[in-house]
Amino acid sequence: IISVRGLVKSYGTFTVLHGIDLDIAEGEVVCVIGPSGSGKSTLIRCINHLEAFSPESIITVDGIQVKPGAALAKVRAEVGMVFQSFNLFPHMTVLKNVMLAPMRVRGMAEAEAAQKARELLARVGIAEQADKYPGQLSGGQQQRVAIARALAMQPKVLLFDEPTSALDPEMVGEVLDVMRRLAGTGVTMVVVTHEMGFARQVADRVIFMDGGRLVEMGSPSTIFDTPREERTRSFLRAVL
Ligand code: ATP
Ligand code: MG
Repeated sequence: IISVRGLVKSYGTFTVLHGIDLDIAEGEVVCVIGPSGSGKSTLIRCINHLEAFSPESIITVDGIQVKPGAALAKVRAEVGMVFQSFNLFPHMTVLKNVMLAPMRVRGMAEAEAAQKARELLARVGIAEQADKYPGQLSGGQQQRVAIARALAMQPKVLLFDEPTSALDPEMVGEVLDVMRRLAGTGVTMVVVTHEMGFARQVADRVIFMDGGRLVEMGSPSTIFDTPREERTRSFLRAVL
């Protein structure tokens, strides 16, 4: 469902991604690991064109080419994103945060959007927080709102950029639990994470990046137990 061919991304003369090739199948859960500055965020931000990339590079999502222009709205309607910093609208209730995109982008009627939003909030375990404002919630609850908001568009692909890195340790588990449950529902997930336990347990495939290159990719057991590349081994020695 995602195809990345020769992805090159530069800031001025500084090249951040040096030609990434990657295919992700529908329903697959892919975790992206690697040191700080290796290009993990940049890679997933290119997938929905939050970052522009070199025009020779080709990314398609569900057969639609990702490039500036009319088709981009279609790509973004199919690709949900969850950030480290939640990015909720602070002046809207939790319920309104989840209702907004389906109403604005899909033209869903308010009553239906509200009902769907309540179902999604129940699914991520925070039905009782619907009428609060984001600032009144814990970090873990806010991140679950962000996941519900992404799901409200019924995306085929969900991109997560370190969704638990900004959370207090006791809240990491509740967010990972929601993601673990999501992983079984057929939605394609690309998860940049430092949670090696989650990657090992939930990923179908793990990608190790370093220096803007995709160094190694394989099943969790291959990457964590029998990595081929010395760079992968030294990274895992440092984090595990
Ligand atoms: P982290 O684990 O710290 O989030 P990352 O793997 O997500 O790191 P990226 O954020 O993708 O890394 O950054 C890759 C490289 O691109 C880094 O060297 C970073 O300094 C550089 N970079 C990112 N954004 C910009 C920018 N707006 N201008 C210039 N360089 C940038
Ligand atoms: Mg990052």
